[in-house]
Amino acid sequence: GLRVGVLALQGGVREHVELLTSLGARAVLVRRPVQLEDLDALVLPGGESSTIDRLTRILGLRDPLRATLAGGLPTLGTCAGLILLADRVLDPAPGQQSLGGLDVTVRRNAFGRQVDSAEETLATTLGPVRAAFIRAPEVVAVGEGVEVNARRGDDVGDPHAPIVGVRAGSLLGISFHPELTGETTVHRELLRLASVRRGRVG
Ligand code: GLN
Repeated sequence: GLRVGVLALQGGVREHVELLTSLGARAVLVRRPVQLEDLDALVLPGGESSTIDRLTRILGLRDPLRATLAGGLPTLGTCAGLILLADRVLDPAPGQQSLGGLDVTVRRNAFGRQVDSAEETLATTLGPVRAAFIRAPEVVAVGEGVEVNARRGDDVGDPHAPIVGVRAGSLLGISFHPELTGETTVHRELLRLASVRRGRVG
């Protein structure tokens, strides 16, 4: 089966592990650089991006993670994980950095308190997705070569609807939590990218 790392420093780790396991993958908790070896894919979970950022630096994971992302490992960032993937972060916590790699600008906590924990069905390029939004970031700008895969609302083609899902090469970033709603679509897409890559690199 596919080995999928889940960055396990803070946040919603267990839900991703359970979902990946239910899809037949082997989930590997990543807390040390050596645990990034021999992965077929990686998940950066939601939580508090500034805390996860700080812990990656304390634990010597920042550079290994950046190298892993640059090496093309299929990676899904959800919510705080999307913030970590973003090249540019608006409204960061003091001193907060991101790992980068995904040519987008995100705004933290963009949707205000009234939707701190909204659940809704989104129309995405992968089909309808049941999504939970928890102090979610919005993608406010995308670079060339970044595909918009999900927007808030029921029309992914609506240019005025906030962007909440993107893909660039091996990197998938989503503002929401599919792992809290029993939604498997996005994780299945990650596993698809992982098997394609494993077929290529042998
Ligand atoms: N607001 C959080 C942050 O900035 C993200 C929230 C989440 O991951 N659910 O990291």
